[in-house]
Amino acid sequence: MRFCLRYTRSNISSCFTIFNYCAHNNRLHLPLTRSLSQFCQQIFFRPALSQPAYLDSSHYYSVFNALPSHYVIDVRSDTLSLPTSEMRQAMFAATLGDDIYREDPNVLKLEQKAAELFEKDAGLFVPSGTMSNLLAIMAHCPQRGAEAIVGDLSHTFLYEQGSAAQIAGVQLATIQNKTDGTFCLEEMQRKIRPYDDSLQPVTSLVMVENTHNMCGGKALPLQWLDELAAICKTKENTNGKNIALHMDGARVFNAAEHLNESVARITREFDSVSYSVSKALLAPVGSMLVGSETFIAEARRLRLALGGSMHQCGILAAAAIDNLRSPNFSVDLHNVHSNILLIHMANPQITASNFAKRLSLVTERELNDNIIVDEKEKGKQGIQLKVSSRNWPFVRIVLYNQIADKEVDYIIKKIEYVIREYDGICESL
Ligand SMILES: *Cc1c(COP(=O)(O)O)cnc(C)c1O
Repeated sequence: MRFCLRYTRSNISSCFTIFNYCAHNNRLHLPLTRSLSQFCQQIFFRPALSQPAYLDSSHYYSVFNALPSHYVIDVRSDTLSLPTSEMRQAMFAATLGDDIYREDPNVLKLEQKAAELFEKDAGLFVPSGTMSNLLAIMAHCPQRGAEAIVGDLSHTFLYEQGSAAQIAGVQLATIQNKTDGTFCLEEMQRKIRPYDDSLQPVTSLVMVENTHNMCGGKALPLQWLDELAAICKTKENTNGKNIALHMDGARVFNAAEHLNESVARITREFDSVSYSVSKALLAPVGSMLVGSETFIAEARRLRLALGGSMHQCGILAAAAIDNLRSPNFSVDLHNVHSNILLIHMANPQITASNFAKRLSLVTERELNDNIIVDEKEKGKQGIQLKVSSRNWPFVRIVLYNQIADKEVDYIIKKIEYVIREYDGICESL
């Protein structure tokens, strides 16, 4: 599997895992998920939210009495995440074209990379997750009188203005979400309509949300996803009708992190997936929709009807591309169990010793790019990272007691930077 960086601290002695695909960027968000839940276990006694939290109109509040002397910590949502300086640089330097003519190179690249990452045929860059879900509903439910089954705490049901009904003309049938984000599969099966009954709507789509926002960021169990798919893909269960499966995976990378699985595996049985590039992935705007060639072609057509033509949106796509994995390095996630991490050279032109040597050097350019330790009083201090390399096709990193969390951050900062440097060099060859 290919590699960029992402890590999570599995315990306070800072054993850690570096994750595949996406990015350096996720580290800003993902480590928090685990330590935050540990913290909550210590101080809260109430069980997880089991009823919808209907927020009052003041829920978009800001900090009212903010003074310059106060330190504001804003954890309302990961939509507040901002692009890194590397992402801003990529946006600044992006070559642009008109996406309507399919001539924006960054959009084409992002769509292709997203499709590869999810092992689907094609991808489509869209302005938002809300539009992405609506497009999926419209493309999967072209028939009048169609019905889509969704969880009653899903974003699609609660927070998309009923656009399925309002715009797509599709009725949503809800099933009560359990606290783990799933719903009862027997009930789902009972909700699938008999196709030959002309009194009833036509069940055309089942949607799930992963991770599940209003169930507290739960990653749906793989086994449940597989069982759900087995029901929907067996004609005897669906009264002979094709039922499409869509995953609202706005935070599917967080699910992948929790399950220690690839996003391709998690979404394997799904006809389409939507994921946000502006939450954990830090891009300023946008979502990706992936699926089959014909599905994406239809979604692309419909996007225009929803006012989603984006012309030079490559300036946004450039930030999102930065999140995708490196073609030159890989980590086999299933083999990271404890404090030892092997980073494999996926490109035979890069040797482990060359990579190790580069990690141990500090360049003028990286100092200018702020690859330095944080303690300001010490001035600009570069990071020299010593990793182990012999005649192996990988470098080895081993954490131990004296390597503090802060140093793990520096390790990641340095490795990210150097990997990106190699990616840039390899691409221009
Ligand atoms: C954020 C979110 C969306 C909507 O994404 P926008 O880009 O804000 O429209 C959809 N589904 C889920 C689960 C989300 O968390």
